[in-house]
Amino acid sequence: MQHESYHFDAIVIGSGISGGWAAKELCEKGLQTLVLERGRDIKHNKDYPTANMSPWEFQHRGEMSREFLENNPLISKAAGFGEDTAHFFIKDADHPYIQEKPFDWIRGYQVGGKSLTWGRACQRWSDFEFKAPEKYGYGIAWPIGYDDIAPWYSHVEKFVGICGNKDGIDAMPDGEFLPPFEFSCVEKHMKDKIKEHYPDRHLVQGRWAHLSQPKEIHIQQGRGKCQARSLCMRGCPFGGYFSSVSSTLPWAESTGNLTIRPNSVVHSIQYDESSGKASGVKIIDAITKEEMVFTANIIFVNASALNTNLILLNSVSKRFPNGLGNDNGLLGKYICFHLYRGWAGGIIDGFEDKYVYGKNPTETILANYRNLYHQEMDYFGGFTTFAGAYRVRKEGLPGNVPQLGADFKKALSEAGDWHVYMYMQGETIPKASNRVYLSKDKKDAWGIPLLVTDVAYDENDEKMIADFLQQSREMLEKIGCRNIYAYDNHQAPGLDIHEMGGVRMGKSPEDSLLNEWNQLHHCKNVFVTDGACMTSTGNQSPSILYMALTARAANYAADQFFTGKL
Ligand SMILES: Cc1cc2nc3c(=O)[nH]c(=O)nc-3n(C[C@H](O)[C@H](O)[C@H](O)COP(=O)(O)OP(=O)(O)OC[C@H]3O[C@@H](n4cnc5c(N)ncnc54)[C@H](O)[C@@H]3O)c2cc1C
Ligand code: SF4
Repeated sequence: MQHESYHFDAIVIGSGISGGWAAKELCEKGLQTLVLERGRDIKHNKDYPTANMSPWEFQHRGEMSREFLENNPLISKAAGFGEDTAHFFIKDADHPYIQEKPFDWIRGYQVGGKSLTWGRACQRWSDFEFKAPEKYGYGIAWPIGYDDIAPWYSHVEKFVGICGNKDGIDAMPDGEFLPPFEFSCVEKHMKDKIKEHYPDRHLVQGRWAHLSQPKEIHIQQGRGKCQARSLCMRGCPFGGYFSSVSSTLPWAESTGNLTIRPNSVVHSIQYDESSGKASGVKIIDAITKEEMVFTANIIFVNASALNTNLILLNSVSKRFPNGLGNDNGLLGKYICFHLYRGWAGGIIDGFEDKYVYGKNPTETILANYRNLYHQEMDYFGGFTTFAGAYRVRKEGLPGNVPQLGADFKKALSEAGDWHVYMYMQGETIPKASNRVYLSKDKKDAWGIPLLVTDVAYDENDEKMIADFLQQSREMLEKIGCRNIYAYDNHQAPGLDIHEMGGVRMGKSPEDSLLNEWNQLHHCKNVFVTDGACMTSTGNQSPSILYMALTARAANYAADQFFTGKL
């Protein structure tokens, strides 16, 4: 039953990292823009219930109850999930999906999406990543290269605020950086030793979405300097890290052109055969279960990669019986992700007179050094290595006596060994067999078909992991570590939280769904600019690229709108 119908210049589906950028750019250009968000409303500061709580103020001292863990075995695996952040993640039973093969789909359904809980690493892609799939024959050509997106990276970085150094590395181009957080003494040692033994490997300070030194544009957003207290995933009262809730959405709102409608579960995009365009978006109100349709000239789909696939697959019409824009049958295929299974570390001696705790919400980054200038390995793609050093408490705290009193307190204040760690973020190969599709008979609470995930690792991944483990072990030896370990954690795909693809960009409608402006080839007023649009995964953290692609596409869409083409 249809109760309402409203028209906007543009509709943005999803209010997370990419949707926030679509809203900001479209509103700034003067388009009346509606953001539809399935989750509840979240306002900066007002809705960060745990932001300033001390550990002893949590009922379970930060842990989740056994009952919660039993009922939510999937979402409680997410990095950073705990009593202090659980309110920014979904509950398993509320949002079911079907895993044909193990796939841990991590979600946060609220205004702000996963921009509230993301890790905030922000490195640029290089042309090595844009060009490699076609050059080495493991994927199709991207319709854009580094030069097309570089100005948009700059545009986004200046507004978001990314700390880091200009390091002059081919594999990880420099950006518009605020000052970096410092290396610790051990990290500096790691960098020097790695450079001494491997001249082509560069360990650099974290490129992270933190305001190490705010500029005027950040103050205008109402954001302040990061206090380096590392409680970011609770929501930062200072606006010290970037989220759409603290940055893009209020900025869009300040133009007077934004309407946000939380609790709006998008069901599908409607297609009008007479105009050959999408005409609007059908939603189900999450609370009343009412069905409504909002119409618009332009539609941006930013529901995060797999939900964007779901919405397009569910947008069926006479013209598109298999999903919107899906003439070639590739919608939902070529799902890919980042490979996070390899971990390594050890203990390092010689820095016992130095102590650092906290003070740095970033991690150091070892830029990719594999398959760059030529295909040198027996696998495709490369990997970024995140690394760091931290000092633990002295071992041997009295465990079998009451943990209170002056002696216990003194023991707690004694520092133990310095530990070094490394973990990988590797490229995976887009394959048609890694796909998502809609269940034919099972539906969610709003009557929308459940998503089925059919995604798995392959031999390329196994070879890359083995190489990472071997190289990391070797580097840890050269750094001077002892008690070195290196292991494969065998986690399921999905837990990496960098799912991509399904609606990939390309040069031709034969082998892709989107053109170089992120428009559906066959329905030009629909733009997809979240991870679903990714033609390949590269090895860099993806979200800053989604933001740059979104800003680029939104400006293009607005220009087309004002010249009457959309
Ligand atoms: C713990 C963690 C650490 C991470 N670390 C990093 C990192 O260091 N660097 C990095 O680059 N990335 C990181 N990521 C990934 C990053 O969060 C995502 O890439 C990014 O949020 C994707 O942006 P998005 O706009 O596509 O999706 P989201 O930010 O998830 O936003 C999507 C929004 O769409 C809404 N939505 C979904 N379906 C519908 C529907 N049917 N109707 C209406 N609304 C809908 C959702 O509720 C959500 O608000 C991390 C993620 C997590 C959780
Ligand atoms: S480390 Fe910075 S961004 Fe994170 S919570 Fe603290 S002040 Fe906020």
